[in-house]
Formats: sequence, C-alpha cells, structure tokens
Amino acid sequence: MKQYRNPHHHLYRLEEIDIIDDDNKNVKKGYVFVDHQGEILDRKKALEYIEFLQEAYSNTSIDEFITESNKQQFLYNAVASKLYSSSLKFEKVDENCYKVNRPDYKKNTFNKSKRDWSFRCSLCNKKVSSKYDESYYLVSSPFDQYFDMPTERTCSIPCADVVYKDNLKRWIKERELSDYVIINF
Ligand SMILES: [Zn+2]
Repeated sequence: MKQYRNPHHHLYRLEEIDIIDDDNKNVKKGYVFVDHQGEILDRKKALEYIEFLQEAYSNTSIDEFITESNKQQFLYNAVASKLYSSSLKFEKVDENCYKVNRPDYKKNTFNKSKRDWSFRCSLCNKKVSSKYDESYYLVSSPFDQYFDMPTERTCSIPCADVVYKDNLKRWIKERELSDYVIINF
C-alpha cells in the first residue's frame, strides 16, 4: 500500500484532561480535540477522526511513510531557513520552490555642486561621470552575514542585474539551493 500527503488540514490540538471516577478515587489521563477557538470537539466528530487515525496508523507501511515524509520535510525546513536568514526578496511558490525577485538597488544621484568625478561600470566598463550623467546604481548584497560581497557601482539597472545575478547564482550554488530557487527577473 502507498500513502500520499493531502494538503487538506484539520487544525486541532490535543488537550490533556483528567478523568476522575465517581467515587473520586482514580484519576485517569485522557485527551480531547480542541479547535482554534478553544472549543472541544463533540463526541461524534471526534470518534470519526479516531477511526481515520486508526486507519492511517495501523497500516503496515505507515512507518516507512512517516520516515520518508519527515526526511523530505527536514529538507524543506533547511531550504526555508537558509532563505529566511538571507536578505533576499523572495516569494514562496510551494513547499519546495521559491522565486527570488529583483532587489531594490540603491540609486545614487550625482551632486552637481561638488567636484566632478567618474568611475567605470563594473560590468560594461562604460564611463559614468558626474559631468554627463545623473545617477548610478549600487549593487551591494550581503545575502547573509557569511556572504559578504563588495559594493559595486553600475551604470544602469540591466548592468546591476547581471552583477547581482552572478553573485546570487554563486550564493544559491554554495548553499545547495539550485533545485529549489528560481531567479525571477
Ligand atoms: Zn554598465
């Protein structure tokens, strides 16, 4: 037999109750299902759930299913924690797929009242000067505290994209996230 996880969730928690017999002598422990509002599930519905639980847990291949599922879940959690500890702009598509979006590059506007200066775009090598240009873009992306990259000056957003993506791809590869992350720009 094979089992598949179905994304349909029923959110109940188990709450411990003390069951005291009529002559107040024996106390037994029990559990009830409690919903998100704190209300206890009625007997009929609870017994239905117990029947389904019985069905699932008494299945002969359930142990294997649990081990496999948890292995997968452990992997997903590791992927998520790497992404959430970064400063990337990303969206979750599903459990094992994330899209990384374009970051907000810092746009610097030249101060025309100051002394003229210029630099060359770190990608296309075009000369960008305070005399002829209005602004430029800074690409600095410490994706996380262990991945420092120097701030680079670029002439335009397309150039900034290429510089950023190069670093992003390296970061994704180093963290073994290639199967889970799509660059979305
Ligand atoms: Zn450029």
